Amino acid sequence: MEKPKFAFFEGKIIPISEAKVDIRTSSLQYGTAVFEGIRSYWNAETEKNYVFRMEDHYKRLYDSARILMIKIKYPIEELCDITLELLKKEGYTEDSYIRPFAYNSGLKIGPKLTGTEQDLFIYTIPMGDYLDTTKAIKVCTSSWSRLSDNSIPPRAKVSGAYVNSAIQKTEALLNGFDEAIVLTSDGQHVSEGSAMNVFAVKNNTLITPPVYSDILEGITRDTVIKIAQDELNIKVIERPVDRTEMYTADELFFCGTGAQVSAIGSVDNRIIGNGSMGQLTGKIQSLYFKIVKNEINKYSSWCTEV
Ligand code: PMP
Repeated sequence: MEKPKFAFFEGKIIPISEAKVDIRTSSLQYGTAVFEGIRSYWNAETEKNYVFRMEDHYKRLYDSARILMIKIKYPIEELCDITLELLKKEGYTEDSYIRPFAYNSGLKIGPKLTGTEQDLFIYTIPMGDYLDTTKAIKVCTSSWSRLSDNSIPPRAKVSGAYVNSAIQKTEALLNGFDEAIVLTSDGQHVSEGSAMNVFAVKNNTLITPPVYSDILEGITRDTVIKIAQDELNIKVIERPVDRTEMYTADELFFCGTGAQVSAIGSVDNRIIGNGSMGQLTGKIQSLYFKIVKNEINKYSSWCTEV
């Protein structure tokens, strides 16, 4: 049976094959939509599926929508209920990815945020690793810059902004790397990966670019900060990070809903540590995978059972 089978579209759950938009749809033409990426994790032991930090993702969708002046007609609680209903209908016994998408659904010509109809759809899809989480990946500094708050605000998860991510990721792959690290538009500091946040470990301290380095304020980033501080007693510093600080870091890793916690073994062909997953990265990754599967009671409020 093909998966997924369903989508929430124009107010109801319907077969995904029937969920189609008009080719004139404004956000298809101009990228004026905001979205989220949420994961559900299958716990083989309890035979249950858990959605990770669902409410926080929908809160960020609301923030993104505010920036793009998109009015979402469903309150957060209802979006959570719809998501759970969709997942129940799909009945996955594997990890999945949930994609809510709030968009300008009007058909008029012209890039505008107002005076157009708006709507929201949600679909889900089975998904395993996005980046290899078992090894340390090979990363380059992108020749492309990150967008800035005064062009397309990276704080909002805007569909059109993913041209920026796609151009970075594709360049990295074509040049034989697994991922890219992207600098801020002035070229001065590290921002993040093509679609994930980045952390460095130096002298047993975690360092990550601050919210004003044109990052998407990642929910996994927030989870990692909490795990490091509360479970591992590690200090976390949010401050601007220079490109060459990455070269001299003891450890480096990416984090994101898709990326999860993924070790970086080299940047621009400079080996990080001994080139394999660092000790602290390993500890954070292992705690993360336990938390998302609702295996640690203290964090069970982050996991919603399907
Ligand atoms: N930065 C960008 C550009 C992203 O697309 C993502 C993935 N949503 C992230 C960071 C990580 O955010 P999160 O941990 O909330 O998935």
